[in-house]
Amino acid sequence: AGGQAAPSQFEENNLSEAKRVIAVLSGKGGVGKSLVTGALAIELARRGHTVGILDADITGPSIPKMLGMSGRRAHGLGKLLLPEISTTGIKVMSSNLLLEHETDPVLWRGPVIAGAIKQFWSDTSWGPIDYLLVDMPPGTGDVALTVFQSLPVDGIVVVTSPQDLVSMIVAKAVNMAEKMHVPILGLIENMSYVACPDCGKKIEVFGPSKLDAVADEYGLKVLGRLPIDPTLALACDAGALEEALPQDFLPDALAACEAV
Ligand code: ADP
Ligand code: MG
Repeated sequence: AGGQAAPSQFEENNLSEAKRVIAVLSGKGGVGKSLVTGALAIELARRGHTVGILDADITGPSIPKMLGMSGRRAHGLGKLLLPEISTTGIKVMSSNLLLEHETDPVLWRGPVIAGAIKQFWSDTSWGPIDYLLVDMPPGTGDVALTVFQSLPVDGIVVVTSPQDLVSMIVAKAVNMAEKMHVPILGLIENMSYVACPDCGKKIEVFGPSKLDAVADEYGLKVLGRLPIDPTLALACDAGALEEALPQDFLPDALAACEAV
């Protein structure tokens, strides 16, 4: 990834070749970072790309469940880990696939979490893939930094919600991106509105969105707005996001990923 001709500063293995690595980041948990990661992966796969998801949210892994991979266990290949593969061919590595019982809480300490993130890049046999999406740990703190120090991220998608302190979260993301020399591809506002079931009108239940103003302030693109949609939450819970995700979901975000 990174299109670098020079040898990468990041440790990797000779069974992995990810052409582009895209990190999905949020200010805190529960805003829909995993949903956006999963949705982008599904859409990229629908368009014929080969896709992996590195679930770097070690203590709150939700990608396997969302893709109907609950109960699966990752296998080893010599010293390497093999990603598990979803119904539609998305390769996934997650702490959830390594626990003895998937309902076990992940009580690992900082250094172990950092080690797991590194391993998910350097010791996982991703094979040749067009995209590796990284479901980031929530926030812009140490654990997020570990990701940027462990693998060659080419671009960042920031997910916010109208309940967030959007300007602060974007400021922190911009700061981190500059420090890590990684471009921010744009912003996605999740749970942005409720669509009126009768007329389809978009109702901003949390008040008018501040996203456009914040995007302008930092010269960033708005890549999409998602409604509060219970069918999506139900699909995630049922492990059926691949089947339930509407066609042409987040088209601008997809275009931004394809332009990396
Ligand atoms: P994060 O990864 O940021 O912690 P998730 O993607 O896991 O957040 O989303 C948190 C919860 O909210 C999940 O149960 C998910 O299914 C639900 N959710 C996320 N986005 C939406 C949405 N737009 N409409 C309805 N439910 C949503
Ligand atoms: Mg999550």
